[in-house]
Amino acid sequence: MGRSAIALAVTLIVAGCGGSSSSTDTSRVEPSVTVTSSPTFERSVIVATNSVLQSFVKLLVGDSAEVLTVIPDGKDPHDFEPSARDISVLNSADLVVQNGLDFEHGLEDSIRAAREGGVTLWTLTDNVTLIGDDPHVFTDPLTMSGAVDSLAAAVARLDGVTVDAAAARSQLEAAGTAARGAIAALGSGKCRLVTDHDALAYFAARFGCTVTGVVVPSFSSSAEASPRDLEAVRKAAGNARAIFMEEGAPGAVVGQVAEELGIDLVELRIHALPADGSYTGYVAALAGSIAGALS
Ligand SMILES: [Zn+2]
Repeated sequence: MGRSAIALAVTLIVAGCGGSSSSTDTSRVEPSVTVTSSPTFERSVIVATNSVLQSFVKLLVGDSAEVLTVIPDGKDPHDFEPSARDISVLNSADLVVQNGLDFEHGLEDSIRAAREGGVTLWTLTDNVTLIGDDPHVFTDPLTMSGAVDSLAAAVARLDGVTVDAAAARSQLEAAGTAARGAIAALGSGKCRLVTDHDALAYFAARFGCTVTGVVVPSFSSSAEASPRDLEAVRKAAGNARAIFMEEGAPGAVVGQVAEELGIDLVELRIHALPADGSYTGYVAALAGSIAGALS
């Protein structure tokens, strides 16, 4: 259950480490910096819950803070359970950055405990305009740009941390412009998305796509589709070119629908960073995968 010695020696994944999607608990050691005792850092420590949020924090603070992630890159955040080591990392943070809205459900108790122990918490979904209950705010760099000032204020209270909010915003805007261009090149009305779970509402709203079907109509990739859901997706996906599936998500149901409909199954790295480990690279990779599959 992830409580073995090997699983405890995990956790300090630094941005840029290529995670692997189909990782089991024991393979989590592979891309990580292994620690065997409580780490000590020269700089202030910001702990993000997952790697995409970690990359966003790094966009703001650069190397002026130690920015860690609890959930390894590429691992499904919706059903992640923390190890004892993960909990100790959260407790030793100067600031914890979480997504919120039930995104990192399995970490909630540990984050609450850390907060009660005096750790400062910043929540992304408290600082943006939400679309329904979809927690995947980070699929849109311009929504993220709206959260920059709030996060900058939170990190500015930490020792030695410097932030250039204007520079961060202009990088996010440039990422948004590039993504918009990639989607616009498909032609008007051509970006129709059928996904395996409700993860692209922000991306779709920002860049002119339509979510026409969700195979698993919940916000967790751990949910299972009912026969009625499947029927609804068959209708919605009628003339779709592809079903987009989150990397590492259970694919049996999605695969079944895709095969029956004779359309492509395309893996999207919604919870994983590209090789350069950057948030802007994440946005480019997401837009590129979607545009590539639909063109
Ligand atoms: Zn998700």
